[in-house]
Amino acid sequence: MTYRLDAKMNTSGFVKCPYCKEEVTDDSDFCPHCGVLFSGAAGQMCDSHTERLATGVCIICRKLVCESCMSVVRGRTFCSDHRKVKVEQDWARIFQSTDITESEMIRAFLQSAGHKVLVRDFAPVGYVWDGGGDSAVSRSNISKPAKIFVPIPEYLKAKESLEEWKSGDFDGKELETE
Ligand SMILES: [Zn+2]
Ligand SMILES: [Zn+2]
Ligand SMILES: [Zn+2]
Repeated sequence: MTYRLDAKMNTSGFVKCPYCKEEVTDDSDFCPHCGVLFSGAAGQMCDSHTERLATGVCIICRKLVCESCMSVVRGRTFCSDHRKVKVEQDWARIFQSTDITESEMIRAFLQSAGHKVLVRDFAPVGYVWDGGGDSAVSRSNISKPAKIFVPIPEYLKAKESLEEWKSGDFDGKELETE
């Protein structure tokens, strides 16, 4: 199904998605936040099944998906490749580990490659970072993984850079200098 955008004449050019209530431009064919299609996209076919009508857009790769290849997770549409990607608000989780040192390196790499980065649980309350002793609290918290998020539209690019970097092929061309 498609949703009709309530394109009231307003000067901002933004309207609310009828499904997730996030703001979208009033000429959108789909909602980049939740992946529902608007009436402008009616009749579009699935990118993987050209004989089937598209029912949504993957919010990660923007591929059109049909009833049989779409996954809806917490109200958001994903293709079969990206249904496991964890998203929070407008952020997609690119990495998580209980290894804080590795997490720090990955965060530094992503930032140096020009990505906006959001981190969660890097320093759980009670975890002693430097010089301090090891306490019962730190032991219980150390298994809580550090999570790294990037903005959803940057996810694919960030993932690609990260893979290259891990495999040693990242040539650093994209590194930004201050
Ligand atoms: Zn939406
Ligand atoms: Zn996708
Ligand atoms: Zn399909």
